[in-house]
Formats: sequence, C-alpha cells, structure tokens
Amino acid sequence: DGLISQIAAGEVIERPASVLKELLENSIDAGATEIQINIAQGGLKLMRVTDNGSGIPTEELPLALTRHATSKIANQEDLHNITSLGFRGEGLASIASVSYLLLISHTPAAEHAWEIRSEGPQLMSPEPSSHMPGTTVEVRDLFFNLPARRKFLKTEATEFAHCESMLRRMALSHAAITFTLHHNGKLRHHWQAATVEERISAVLGQEFSEAATWVNEQAVNINLRGMLALPAYSRATRDMQYFFVNGRFIRDKLVTHALREAYCDVLHLDRHAAFVLYLGVDPTQIDVNVHPTKTEVRFREGRMIHQFIYHSVSKALAAPHT
Ligand code: ADP
Ligand code: MG
Repeated sequence: DGLISQIAAGEVIERPASVLKELLENSIDAGATEIQINIAQGGLKLMRVTDNGSGIPTEELPLALTRHATSKIANQEDLHNITSLGFRGEGLASIASVSYLLLISHTPAAEHAWEIRSEGPQLMSPEPSSHMPGTTVEVRDLFFNLPARRKFLKTEATEFAHCESMLRRMALSHAAITFTLHHNGKLRHHWQAATVEERISAVLGQEFSEAATWVNEQAVNINLRGMLALPAYSRATRDMQYFFVNGRFIRDKLVTHALREAYCDVLHLDRHAAFVLYLGVDPTQIDVNVHPTKTEVRFREGRMIHQFIYHSVSKALAAPHT
C-alpha cells in the first residue's frame, strides 16, 4: 500500500521537523537517556537520530516500517491513558514511504545489531550490522518521490530552524535526557541530562532564568510549575512561549488568554511574555480525539483550567521569587 502510505505521510510528515518529532518520540518511548541528532542541509538531505534505548527485536524490524503493524494502543482503556508519545503505529512507515530510510537496532538480548533499509515503498531484507545497544534511524532525501511536496519546503535555514524549535520543545519536556545536535557536521546544541531548572536555563539562556520567577501551584488533580519571565526580561518573543500538558507541547487559545490576562492585570504588560510552564492534569481531563501530531488540545473543563492558570500565574507574578 505504497500510495496509502504516501497519503498518510502527507498528513503526518509535513517537513524535516515532523520527521525529527516522530524519531525523537520513538527514542523517548524506548527509554533512551541519550539521543544524538545529525542533520544535513536542514534535514532535507539527512536526518539521523541515534539513541541508547531498548532497541527493536530483529524479527520486528520489518514490522516497524510497516503501516499499522505496531500501534502502541492495545485497547480503548489505553486511549484514555496515553503515556507513550507515539501511538499510531505509522510514523516510521510514513517516513519510510517518502525517503530512503535505514534502521539499525541492537537489543540487549541479541548478539549483534541488525539493519533494514527501505527506498520509498520498497522494503529490503534485514542484514547483520553493528551498533551499540539502542537504535539509529537515518532518513535521507525526504520527499525524493514527491517532488511537489519537496518544492513546497522552505530554505535549508528555515527548515533547520523548525528542527531546532522541535528539539527545544522535546528538550524542555525531557530534562533527564541528554541531547546533542549536529548540523552540517557542526555541533549546535549539547544539553546534558539535568534538572528542569538547569534545562530551562540551558535552552532559553541564563538571561531568561535570571529574570524569571518560579510558579509552583498544586491543587487536587491539577498542578502548574515552571518559569515566567519578569518585565526585566526584554528579549521575549512569541517562540519563547512553551506550555506543556502532561509532557506534551501545546498551543491553546484558552491557555494563551489566561496568561495574557495575568500578565496584563498584575504587571500591566501587554507585549509577548516568555515562559516555560508544565501543566499536570488527570488524563481524563483531556480530549484525546484531537489529532496527535497537532499542538492542539481540548480540555473537558476549560473554565476550571483557565482559572487555575490565571490564579497560579497572577500569584507568582505578584510575589516573584527568582
Ligand atoms: P508508534 O511509535 O506509533 O508505535 P512508529 O512507526 O513510530 O509507531 O514506530 C514503530 C515501532 O517501531 C514502535 O512501536 C517501536 O516498537 C519501534 N521503534 C521505533 N523507533 C524505535 C526506537 N528508537 N527504539 C526502539 N523501538 C523503536
Ligand atoms: Mg512513533
């Protein structure tokens, strides 16, 4: 079903940054504590992600590149309690259908690593390989067989910037993982496993941390923590607004509104605020029918969420402790 895969790919894989997201989510799901990313030409030429996670058993290598073979959702119950990031079982298959893909993996149980290649819809047989325990996925020439899609992509610099934003989101929500990123052979980011506070400082800069206050608010079934920039921080831009719900990056009108109101009421500040916030809610509070690749979320009790965020942020801004 090469064509179906390509159509599915078009929905999930929009640009190199979407490939990076899928690969990083898989590495995180595999329990990796160290993830290395190598990108060439903004990800158009090459995107390689290497992790030290649990690996893929040899007999499952072909399945990993096949559509719907591996959905991490086993039943309806799982739908409500999604803890793993990927749960559609088609990320890799979609990427494979529109690129040259190489998957190398080594599980602790196996004597050595195995690899499998695909060229667009064509899947090769697994072959012995060499790799430390963990997995490498290498994606070359994205959209080589979809020239129209390829033409739609922006410059190398823009695509790389999208990859960087994606990595920042992942790094901010997984402080305990070490991330390294090379672009065109040059080291661009190296973030050691750290506390959340250290990771925020590493990703957004020390200037941000020094001009920010902490939020730490806990109620029944809901909590909000993170850092909010104070007026002294003048370098805030829209892309310095990070909001995670149960570890997932989201953009949401309700959240934005609650934050803007709090900043406006307490500090009379109307320009872009910078923040990194982590909201923890009961999974049943979130509607999971929203498309998993999108950054949208639907809260079941929007009013309550809005009030909680507004209250927590106002309180932190009114009595800042840096
Ligand atoms: P999904 O993540 O939705 O299950 P994917 O197509 O992204 O589907 O991945 C297919 C399967 O391949 C996963 O379910 C997982 O078993 C395996 N896999 C992919 N990447 C990795 C990785 N980095 N480490 C271990 N297993 C992986
Ligand atoms: Mg996945």
